[in-house]
Amino acid sequence: MRIVLLGPPGAGKGTQADLLCRTLGIPKISTGDMLRAECASESSRGKELKKIMDSGQLVSDELVTEMVSERISKPDCDNGCLLDGYPRTVLQANNLQKVGIKVNPVIFLDVDDKSIIDRLAERGRDDDQPDVVKRRLQVYREQTEPLIELYKTQAEINFVTIDGERSVEEIQEELLKILDPKEEASAC
Ligand code: AMP
Repeated sequence: MRIVLLGPPGAGKGTQADLLCRTLGIPKISTGDMLRAECASESSRGKELKKIMDSGQLVSDELVTEMVSERISKPDCDNGCLLDGYPRTVLQANNLQKVGIKVNPVIFLDVDDKSIIDRLAERGRDDDQPDVVKRRLQVYREQTEPLIELYKTQAEINFVTIDGERSVEEIQEELLKILDPKEEASAC
């Protein structure tokens, strides 16, 4: 089971992903975390990446796809993994398919703009400044949102929309129900 967690910035993907991965015993692959680690290393590539990330833009499709393919090929991903923040563009989704990495289910954490702005204001990461948040939301609408339609229309994908406006615990409970193979409504 390779779970994809989709949703706008600030939807709570990271929090839900951490809880879910702990319960399911699978690794979380967060491209944002991997990229931030590269930035922290202060390599020349890290410095370039930080500039892009702090401006609210996406880094190159090729770079993240390479990072993810390499990470997924590690043995701890043999029993599945959870992708948080990847794919983020249609090209990334197509690249995954091209390299033979199948994902399923795709879970969309649905949150409205007002909550996103409130939540990101509380978080205070370098890329959570108001003008950057606006840019990230725009990038999300233009480049990531089309993935919803793409995955919804793929017959082999179980696409599930989750109301992300509830408490962390309520959302986690629903996610676990969906992912529990014993449940009749299982999405896997
Ligand atoms: P996140 O932690 O997922 O919100 O990602 C933080 C930033 O990292 C994003 O605003 C992008 O600049 C970059 N990033 C993370 N994942 C991707 C991705 N899949 N494709 C391109 N850029 C990404």
